[in-house]
Amino acid sequence: MRYDRYDAVLTHAVHRQASDMLLQHIRRDQRQEDLCFALWRPSTGGERQSALIFRLVPPQDGERHLHGNASFEAAYLARAVRIAHAEQAGLAFMHNHFSPGWQGMSDVDIVAERDRISPPARATGFPVVGLTLGVDGSWSARFWVWSGRQVELCWCDKVRVVGRGLQITYNDDHLPPPVRRPALSRTIDTWGEAVQSDIARLRVGVVGVGSVGCMVAEALARMGIRHLALVDADRVEPHNLDRLLYAGVDDVGIYKTELAARNLKRSATAEAFRVDAVTRRIEERPAYLAALDCDVLFAAVDRPLPKDVVNHIAYAHCIPVIFGGVFVDRKSNGRLGQAAWSAMLVGPDARCLRCDGQYTTSDVVMERDGSLDDPSYVRRQRSGDGRRNQNVFPFSANVASYMILEMIRLVAGEAWWPTVAGKLHYSFIPNRLSTEHAACKEHCSVQAKLAAGDHAKYPFIIDPVQRTDHRSRLSRWVNWCVNRLRHCVNWWRKRATS
Ligand SMILES: [Zn+2]
Ligand SMILES: [Zn+2]
Repeated sequence: MRYDRYDAVLTHAVHRQASDMLLQHIRRDQRQEDLCFALWRPSTGGERQSALIFRLVPPQDGERHLHGNASFEAAYLARAVRIAHAEQAGLAFMHNHFSPGWQGMSDVDIVAERDRISPPARATGFPVVGLTLGVDGSWSARFWVWSGRQVELCWCDKVRVVGRGLQITYNDDHLPPPVRRPALSRTIDTWGEAVQSDIARLRVGVVGVGSVGCMVAEALARMGIRHLALVDADRVEPHNLDRLLYAGVDDVGIYKTELAARNLKRSATAEAFRVDAVTRRIEERPAYLAALDCDVLFAAVDRPLPKDVVNHIAYAHCIPVIFGGVFVDRKSNGRLGQAAWSAMLVGPDARCLRCDGQYTTSDVVMERDGSLDDPSYVRRQRSGDGRRNQNVFPFSANVASYMILEMIRLVAGEAWWPTVAGKLHYSFIPNRLSTEHAACKEHCSVQAKLAAGDHAKYPFIIDPVQRTDHRSRLSRWVNWCVNRLRHCVNWWRKRATS
């Protein structure tokens, strides 16, 4: 099967291990290449397949030879294929070059990957993934995809190293760096062309396009991000109008994603901006697959199931999630007791949402069986804490801003300071900002699925059936009628008053 786009992904731990092995000679000032086999699992979105490199298969004595270049014995290849097959994983082949940045391939490289490695590795059922490590620690990668008896070279768009930071090497042929434009000059003058070029080429998903998500998307579009995906199934309601960017009285009833997409096209500063409005819940397959096509996800969702879905994606698929949540507590006399919000990075090397106490597994089960919306349960929750749905525009604006800052730190932070914050927490009443670094609890089952990709099937994904399409067509028609009627009433009112 051929995909539109390919990526390769390494956790920071695997990247460290691989670069320690491949660059060991260069670090000792020897001009010596090295090589290593590794295993990968697929992470398959709607358009893109990513190879998640999850384990090295280092050479044993006599299995590889070093002579300036490096070569391997057939026995090493056969052993690596056997291990990959037993693990139901794909085979990856890594070697290093002496120059920095994205690397091309020599004729010798092509012969090794296409003619020597690909035919026996076909037994794994997956394409061979070739990776080259530059002397500066940047990766380049390609898939060798079979079509009939031919094997075809498919270059990746980028290689992502995911940990506390997100280090990306882009394939400039597929994703050219942005050109300096007047609309972005002040942004570029702030953090420089290198950071802008890393940020602009990210594919970013915003899950939950409510008050917080909308402001996040607005900031991303202004910052010159080229490709956004918006995931939300809700429509604008009258009670959203005090907080929802872009929304006016006339917009009540339309989908939040469509309203945002329309307005983001006006705000966007990238030369070719694309925004995908995915009008689905994240637990529905089309939205889930759209999320798997992204490099970074923002999640501004308050229900347990969407939190569980993005939490799964962050670890199993190694896509960093920046989560933002607002907590509001009212006193019994109706006045504001406390307001606090947090923005946190979720993903490899950071604490997961469940271990952070943002939801529990029993909440997810209750949402699944409908009891979370049971009126008696909702009443009980509200008397206990007032957290659901209460919020005001400046709270949302503040948490959205913290979330964006977290993303900038994630992508560019390494250049500025050694550590980045895992969680920012702001309390409005004592006016206090704190940062926190914490790991998952011991034996966290979410962490256990790190880089397992499609192999760790998420159990709660819903396949939308025909009925949904039919219903959405009907609801679109009803919506159109209501809007027409509202226009007529407005027109009649204006006429009556003039
Ligand atoms: Zn080479
Ligand atoms: Zn955890």
